[in-house]
Amino acid sequence: MTLLTIGKILKEYKEFLTDYEIEKLRKVQRGKTDFLTQVKDLQLALFSEEWDFMSDSGADAKDRAIGKNPMSKKYTDRVNKKREAFGVSSLVETGYAEDRSSYLFCEDVVRLTKNYKERLDRKARKQKDTVYVDMDGVLVNFQSGIDKISKEDAERYKDELDEVPGIFSLMEPNEGAIEGYKWLCKNFDTYILSTAPWENPSAWQDKLNWVKKHLPDVAHKRLILSHNKHLLKGDFLIDDRIANGAGEFAGKHIFFAENGRGFEDWKKVVSYLKNLV
Ligand SMILES: [Mg+2]
Repeated sequence: MTLLTIGKILKEYKEFLTDYEIEKLRKVQRGKTDFLTQVKDLQLALFSEEWDFMSDSGADAKDRAIGKNPMSKKYTDRVNKKREAFGVSSLVETGYAEDRSSYLFCEDVVRLTKNYKERLDRKARKQKDTVYVDMDGVLVNFQSGIDKISKEDAERYKDELDEVPGIFSLMEPNEGAIEGYKWLCKNFDTYILSTAPWENPSAWQDKLNWVKKHLPDVAHKRLILSHNKHLLKGDFLIDDRIANGAGEFAGKHIFFAENGRGFEDWKKVVSYLKNLV
């Protein structure tokens, strides 16, 4: 994963940018606007080609309607080269952006640049960013619990293993999870955010017991059990799924363990977050 700030882009990616883009970028760099404004301004400064269609002439619009990009090949090649350098998807045939990759890229750059209002305000008040950490698959090794249940339970609950009574109390921490969580606590306002199965009441108790056993002091009274993770206000959510609102979380969803997204294990998560302290 390339970690870029606006300063680094201006220093190391100049060859991909026009003078106009550089000038716009410098303006955003002086920023101090709120997070969302800064992300949108950065997207407009770096990837203004995504709004080209707004100045289409009648003939241009007709071209686009039949799947033809009215912009010149030279221009399109240049912007796509720039987009590739930043790991953002190329424009499609018609010249439109096909996904949100440029927006997500800009979100990360603004986060790393740390010059947005909410962050500066928190710093002035000596407050830390907030991180939520999921349990199953992130702090907890779910499989280690499955490995310990009886043959009868394994057969009886084969489609709903998370409903085996007491299964959550049998689970071991994931590799690096305890050290990782402790590191988070020192650098962020850190909470555990997990979902307990609705049909397995013992899981609610077992999750509390697990936290008391493995993270007794650092997570004291910091366990949140919810089926609606998107309602929580904060900066980061480390979660291995998008279920129960995780996918709609308003801050950054650190997609734990998903191959190719850069957060395959605790070591990678901590090394990423070190840049944001
Ligand atoms: Mg999970």
